[in-house]
Amino acid sequence: MAERLFTGIAASAGLASGQVLRPARAAGREMAETRGGSGAEALWAAIVAAGNELAELLGRLDGDEAEIVAMQMAFLEDDELARPAFEAIAAGRPAAAAWAAAMDAEIAVYQASDDEYFRARAVDFQDMRDRVLAALTGSGGGPLVVPDDTILLAAELRPSEFLAASWGKGAGIALTQGSPTSHVAMLARGRGLPMVVALDAEVLDLQGAALLDGAAGVLVSEPDEARLAAARDRLANEASGRAEAAAMAARPAVSRNGVRVAVQATIADPAELDRLDPAHFDGIGLVRTELFLDSPARLRDEEGQLAAYRRILAWAGGRPVTVRTLDAGGDKPIAGYTVAHEANPFLGMRGIRLSLRHPDIFRVQLRALARAAADGPLKVMLPMVTLPGELAEARAMFDSEIAALAAAGAAHGRPALGIMVEVPAVAITPERFDADFFSIGSNDLVQYTCAVSREEAAAARLGSAADPSVLALIARVAAHGRLSGREVGLCGDAGGDPLLVPALLAAGLRSLSVQPELAGAVKAAIAGLDLATDT
Ligand code: PEP
Ligand code: MG
Repeated sequence: MAERLFTGIAASAGLASGQVLRPARAAGREMAETRGGSGAEALWAAIVAAGNELAELLGRLDGDEAEIVAMQMAFLEDDELARPAFEAIAAGRPAAAAWAAAMDAEIAVYQASDDEYFRARAVDFQDMRDRVLAALTGSGGGPLVVPDDTILLAAELRPSEFLAASWGKGAGIALTQGSPTSHVAMLARGRGLPMVVALDAEVLDLQGAALLDGAAGVLVSEPDEARLAAARDRLANEASGRAEAAAMAARPAVSRNGVRVAVQATIADPAELDRLDPAHFDGIGLVRTELFLDSPARLRDEEGQLAAYRRILAWAGGRPVTVRTLDAGGDKPIAGYTVAHEANPFLGMRGIRLSLRHPDIFRVQLRALARAAADGPLKVMLPMVTLPGELAEARAMFDSEIAALAAAGAAHGRPALGIMVEVPAVAITPERFDADFFSIGSNDLVQYTCAVSREEAAAARLGSAADPSVLALIARVAAHGRLSGREVGLCGDAGGDPLLVPALLAAGLRSLSVQPELAGAVKAAIAGLDLATDT
């Protein structure tokens, strides 16, 4: 057979070569709907069984992965979710059909949302629907098993399916739906599994051998011998690259000509630190607090926050830790705190804009941070700053909380107060901002400079930190830092991409905060560079 090439969108880099696998989930679902147990009791039992499965799964996970499963458990425990199904059963409908219809209605509401975050949650509801259906009929067939050197073909992959699946060595994922910003894409990157999304639906009918290039976003069916030979070379290079990266992770980042670069870790939850060795990092460059302070109760819990910040400082053992104040809003809503139904949430109330609108909640975080600073070198960073007045207002609040702690004789410190550079207004004129330090948020800086939504897969190709306009802005901020004696680092995802690292360092940066699993690859990239010594 002649080779055929399908182009989708890159979601997780890496190369997979082998046989395709198309799991028969759709057929399983139809069977469940027609054969399912018929009464309310059967549905209760199935919901409980599905909840138990998720609880068991939760016990094996941590960080973002655990959060996804915990969220599904919370929904399953909510009586309101199943109420329409029980009403339909009372009216004579079989349990499986009643449950499927109730969940399909819920899924349709999420799919119709204007908000990308809520649209992406539809997959979690599909996941819960199918898990309960499988429990109703015993037709679930267990978790996915993807053997070594196999490319999974599917329309969509649910987060809990991903987490429960066993992934063989050299496996890959090819989806006809999805986006690089979906939960599953994030999980695939975390596990180093190549993944391509938004492929033509035709790929679902493929059989036989295929090659998946996660970096290029391409699936090749029946690849010819020349392509396979090139892939074998690349796989061998990637394998030795991975071994080199693992060894590099343990060493300080130094360029070929001896210039030291700080490589810090970016985290979403203090629990992530349990599996990381602090000696591999020059501290923590970004703590995304909105990802673990994700409810109004947590936002008001000063002691809980204090304990979280102390745990991070204890792990760091004297290395610097930069905690970002709440960056809720945009793609990170917190029910009961962020503004619902904004026409354009990324240009609306998020980050510091919201914190200043809720001073009572902001002061809780500032107090907890000032108290934690008694334990070690803590720095505090404000997200989404656009105007110098926002920094001034936040600084005045911070100062007054520190003064109150001093007056009360409470242990505290005075952390440096810096800002993220995510908005071009800051990058173009950084000298207007009296910040103690600057940290470039390349994810948003690209989005706002190139007018490319972070959430739209189709537009993703139009913006990158490698765009000369973005690099010029970064260079401008780095130059301002040199002239004014203020530290400038970068904490967006671009810092974890070894292909972008040379341009970022050439722009004058000497400090990158990256997803922990990428530190080795970034240090390896740095080791191959000759860097200017006068920055
Ligand atoms: C960024 O914008 O680059 C950044 C680090 O912030 P977030 O991705 O959390 O918006
Ligand atoms: Mg940002």
